[in-house]
Amino acid sequence: MRANALVALAAIAMATGAEAADVPRVRICSIETKLAMLAPNPYTASNNFGGNNYVEPQPSKTPVNPVYRQDVVAAFNIAPQDFKDALCALNQVFIDPNPGDGAPLGWGFWEGRNQGTGRKRFVGLSERVWQQPFNLTSLESGILTALAPRVRNARYSSAFPDDRVMAILSLLVHELGHVAYRTGARIPRECFTDTDSWRSVPQRPARFVRFGLAWAKHKLDPDYSQTMDAAALYQVHASGRWASLFSFLSPEEDFAETLKISVLVDAGLRSLQVEIPGYQGLD
Ligand SMILES: [Zn+2]
Repeated sequence: MRANALVALAAIAMATGAEAADVPRVRICSIETKLAMLAPNPYTASNNFGGNNYVEPQPSKTPVNPVYRQDVVAAFNIAPQDFKDALCALNQVFIDPNPGDGAPLGWGFWEGRNQGTGRKRFVGLSERVWQQPFNLTSLESGILTALAPRVRNARYSSAFPDDRVMAILSLLVHELGHVAYRTGARIPRECFTDTDSWRSVPQRPARFVRFGLAWAKHKLDPDYSQTMDAAALYQVHASGRWASLFSFLSPEEDFAETLKISVLVDAGLRSLQVEIPGYQGLD
């Protein structure tokens, strides 16, 4: 039966070129061939790699530390196939050695029409990922406390699995979510539409979205505020409408965070718990 089906598929593929492209197939790519240290560049992702004076981010000759390589490969290996394909479509995954003041732990960058070929896409992971104790709960807790500084001791209290590999995958998906949202190269998941939770989606801000920037209005919930208290923070998580407080900021972060949770669950994430002082734990 199976052999016959394969023959039939092959016949369809040979019969018309157009349909041949629709025959599902597993693309095989190695993330190792995409992985490199970022060479010194007068610009960074946060200043658009020079804008009109674009200097393309390039791999350096410095080999990637084997521990970094092993962790990124492990993150790739646990990812679902659609996200593997999305990573494979990138031109490069960089380890960014720039210590930089406030440099992001992860970044996504796509060339503008006036930059280079106008088509290349990159994702970067800061080398700081390996220079500190780092797992999913520490990454997510850092984001939570930066976005809700008035709620002391709010944190992600547990996750399973909770390791550096899950945290790396989390950063990769979030940043690739930004690239996909802006370039239209949507990852084929039916997990988000702009109209679900947002009153309107105004013109998007400049290419680099500063961490913590909120720029659209909610339909049902109060809008995000840096001064939110524990009750407001609890409501965001208890409503069931948001993947995280980060997703509460803008439609773009909402897309990145919803995609992230969806991919992490497919990669084996079984639990992720938020603890807000004075309230019961939330999964
Ligand atoms: Zn983001």
